[in-house]
Amino acid sequence: MAEKPAGLPVAEGIREAAARLAATSDTARLDAELLMAHALGVSRSDLLLRCMADPAPADFAALVERRAGHEPVAHILGTQDFYGRPFRVTPDVLIPRGDSECVVEAALAAAPLARRVLDLGTGSGALLLTLLAELPQAAGIGIDASAPALAVAEENAAALGLAGRAEMRPGDWTLPGWADGFGVFGLVIANPPYVEDCAELSPDVRDHEPASALFAGPEGLDDYRVLVPQLAALLAPGGVAVLEIGHLQARVVGRIADDAGFAVTIHRDLAGRDRALVLRQKAW
Ligand code: GLN
Repeated sequence: MAEKPAGLPVAEGIREAAARLAATSDTARLDAELLMAHALGVSRSDLLLRCMADPAPADFAALVERRAGHEPVAHILGTQDFYGRPFRVTPDVLIPRGDSECVVEAALAAAPLARRVLDLGTGSGALLLTLLAELPQAAGIGIDASAPALAVAEENAAALGLAGRAEMRPGDWTLPGWADGFGVFGLVIANPPYVEDCAELSPDVRDHEPASALFAGPEGLDDYRVLVPQLAALLAPGGVAVLEIGHLQARVVGRIADDAGFAVTIHRDLAGRDRALVLRQKAW
C-alpha cells in the first residue's frame, strides 16, 4: 500500500502562511511561527530548533485562516506572554500588550517595598499578578466590572501560584462605595480604558477585544476623570499610583492628576512614547 503523502514541511508551511498573513499582520512571520508551534504542541524555540523538516499538521491551515480573518494570535492560542510569564486570555479581557510592561517597570521602580497593591480594571490580571510575582512581600486586590474577566484573572492567579496573595473582586469605580472596606495601598495601578470613542482601531482590536476595556468617551478621558480624584483616599501615606495612558495623553492626564494634588512623572514605553504616569501626593 502506498504511504500517505506527508504534508508540506513545517519550514515551507510557515513561509506560505507568512505570505498569506502579510496583508493582515505587521508580524506575519512571527504569527505563522506561533500558530505552527501551537498546531504541533511545541514551544516556538523547539519549533525552530527541531521541527522545521517535519510535516506540517493538517489543522495548521485552519489556524492561518482564522488569523487572516483578523482574529488575534493570542485568542487562537488562548495565551499571551507578558513580562516573561504566560497569561490565559479570552475575548473577555484586553490582550496584555508589550507597551504595558512599562507600567510594571515604573511601579517596581517607584514602589519596590509596597505590601498592598490595588489593580483597577485588572482584566486578565496581567499587571497585578506580574507585580505580585516580582514583589514577594506583597499581596493585592484586582477589581473589574466584568465577571467573565474576573474568572480569567482568577484562573491566571491560580496558574501562577499566586491565588493566596491575589484577591479578585467585582467592582465598578463609577458607583459610589465601590471601594468601601478596601483600606489603603502602597501601590495602586490601572490600565483603564483610554481610547477616544471615535478612534479607528485595527479590526484585530475593534472586532475581537472588549470595548469596555478600550473606550472612554469622546476624549478617552472619562475613566481618568472619575478615577484620579479617588486615588488619594486609596493611597497609604507615601503611596504611589501608576497609570497607563495613551501616548498623546501625558499632558492632559497629568493636569487631571495635578488638580487632584499629585506630582507626576512620565515614563516611556519601548517605542519611546509616553505610556505611564507615576503619581505621588504633593503634600507628602
Ligand atoms: N493600548 C490599547 C490600544 O490602543 C488601549 C488600551 C486601553 O485603552 N487601556 O489598543
